[in-house]
Amino acid sequence: MSGTEKVPAITATDDELRAHLAEAEVPPLLSAVAYVTGDLSLLRDDLRPNPTLLAVPHGGMSTEQQAAARELALDALIRFRDGGSVRATPPTHDVLLRMVEHVVGESDMDDYLPLLEEELALRGDDRRGPKWHAADLDPDRDFSVLVIGAGMSGVLTAHRLQQAGISFTVVEKNADVGGTWYENSYPGCRVDNPNHNYSYSFAQRHDWPLHYSDQPVLHGYFRDCARDFGVLDRIRFRTAVRSLAWDDDSATWSVVIEGPDGATETLVTNAVVSAVGQLNRPHFPEIPGIDTFAGVSFHSAQWDHDAPIDGARVAVIGTGASSVQFTPEIAPRAGHLFVFQRTPPWMGPTPDYHEAVPEGQRWLYAHVPTYSEWNRFWMFWRMGDGSIPAVRVDPDWDTSSGSVNPLNDLMRSALTSYLEQQFASRPDLLPHVIPTYPPGAKRLLRDNGVWAGALTRENVTVVTDAIREITPAGIVTVDGTEYDVDVIVYGTGFHASHFLEPMQVTGSGGVDLHEQWTGDARAYLGITIPGFPNLFCLYGPNTNIVINGSIIYFSECGVRYILGCLELLLRGHHASLDVRKDVHDDFNERVDAENRMMAWGWSDVNSWYKNEHGRVAQNWPFTLLEYWQRTVVPDPDDYVTTPMVDSTPPSRPPGTASLHLA
Ligand SMILES: Cc1cc2nc3c(=O)[nH]c(=O)nc-3n(C[C@H](O)[C@H](O)[C@H](O)COP(=O)(O)OP(=O)(O)OC[C@H]3O[C@@H](n4cnc5c(N)ncnc54)[C@H](O)[C@@H]3O)c2cc1C
Repeated sequence: MSGTEKVPAITATDDELRAHLAEAEVPPLLSAVAYVTGDLSLLRDDLRPNPTLLAVPHGGMSTEQQAAARELALDALIRFRDGGSVRATPPTHDVLLRMVEHVVGESDMDDYLPLLEEELALRGDDRRGPKWHAADLDPDRDFSVLVIGAGMSGVLTAHRLQQAGISFTVVEKNADVGGTWYENSYPGCRVDNPNHNYSYSFAQRHDWPLHYSDQPVLHGYFRDCARDFGVLDRIRFRTAVRSLAWDDDSATWSVVIEGPDGATETLVTNAVVSAVGQLNRPHFPEIPGIDTFAGVSFHSAQWDHDAPIDGARVAVIGTGASSVQFTPEIAPRAGHLFVFQRTPPWMGPTPDYHEAVPEGQRWLYAHVPTYSEWNRFWMFWRMGDGSIPAVRVDPDWDTSSGSVNPLNDLMRSALTSYLEQQFASRPDLLPHVIPTYPPGAKRLLRDNGVWAGALTRENVTVVTDAIREITPAGIVTVDGTEYDVDVIVYGTGFHASHFLEPMQVTGSGGVDLHEQWTGDARAYLGITIPGFPNLFCLYGPNTNIVINGSIIYFSECGVRYILGCLELLLRGHHASLDVRKDVHDDFNERVDAENRMMAWGWSDVNSWYKNEHGRVAQNWPFTLLEYWQRTVVPDPDDYVTTPMVDSTPPSRPPGTASLHLA
């Protein structure tokens, strides 16, 4: 459903409407009703959220404010219903701006408006799609793209390439699409961004069953999208890319792939999009004796659903994002559960984390045009750029108390109180569960009480002593205590900093990418790398986020940028396009400087955001707006291009296949 799709006329009675509105999130409700009815009197100055209380439901609006807002919306919707549910003419730029500023309780949102119009797809149009077709730009050119990976990013890329009429093949090592949401089947796996936000902007779904969907629902969503986009038959499943090598003479990539039967094949293509993700190569800790364990052991991303957990002595190593989801699920099943923790997580109270979307909200999504889109924007803001001030280091702030600025300090106090309440029955655990690092230095995890519920169980022991070794019988900590267990679950994350591994990538002049990077992956806008022409990355270096936004947003921006680069190639009849090193280096300097000013770069707490050099290689430190602004369209001056030698297709080495024939 989208903003212009036909929404059934409202037939609910006044009382039914009142009941539905009681469950509405108020800030987006007012703008949605104003948008659809044209009644701007709903946008009252005294009914705006408090921009410093965005984390709180309704942006901290008082009960009286909420009640007044609901009454206003009720009256307007009754008039709307009685008038035949006829939608007002879409607002002008200035009026839309007023609505946007009203939802977030801020002013000066002008810069955001073009981004938000796209992000909301309020008028039902997909503004991020290509506005050109390859056949119109360079009709005679034999041009193809290989996409590596069919997760959220790869499926999106395939869709855009198809829209642009570019020949492409997707190669996926798994048996299905979905990436993260195909692989992680551990109990309790779910998204941490509400789904109205964690979904493609142009394929919004308004009937999510849960606020935060679990893995099967997410996998289903991406599979449905791939099917609806018509790209499933362009994906070669169970096929992995082993290496890719650039040939300067022909300006093509030779890509070696390995199929399900182990046979290799070489594909030749003009451009490659790496959509291999960051979080799909499980990381096991370097603990002496790890291979000697005689029981059952596995990583959370490779969950062993036959593992004998019921009644068994189970060890969980790690208390990061995955562990916080699966530990509460297995704690009641285990005979005894030992949770080995190095660093505790900050937990963000999220009462509706496991809850179904209530009836009233479902009704609003289905019957009040644009409520869903405005709600998406509300989430985009409060969990996006609106939260950045809380994690940026204030150079004048005394950081000795473990916070980086006054707002961060308030956040720290609120989150500490939450943990104190949660662990009230076990004060002995408090020193172990309250982090000493500032909120935002590691990912803030969502909680609805199940974490403390698990850790305070009688059959659960939290172990904070460092692990010395793993033996055939179990785990031994540095103080010599032996924990004999039947099962070890590794909730120890991924090789996130090892971008594009284990593929061998050879660029211009035979330069090896991983030798160039030496473990410190960098790219321009997370997308292009000097010396590696016509290679584009999604979810590449410095495109991750700690507390703000969703990766889908970054991939949508990135894919549009990549399509823009392909347009440059085709329109300009260029053979290749290579990012200028000075542009890349200047950009990275800025990224590094800004990351050092963010809680995650400033703090010395261990986190997967830093690579082996201690550099934050994962995170985007600027606003979401800036990523959008920088990726709307590539600046040709950022790139060095080479001309086409002639218009004939690239010559292929013997024994290789053209992508078009694959
Ligand atoms: C448990 C978990 C929870 C998460 N929760 C959130 C969240 O709440 N919000 C959020 O924004 N993000 C979250 N993420 C991050 C998540 O990875 C991204 O949101 C998103 O799914 C990334 O999609 P992707 O397509 O870029 O990468 P992936 O989903 O990792 O997909 C990459 C694909 O590439 C394939 N591939 C890799 N190498 C090769 C190769 N050599 N040859 C062929 N195929 C290859 C893989 O098999 C995979 O299918 C979470 C990640 C995990 C692991």
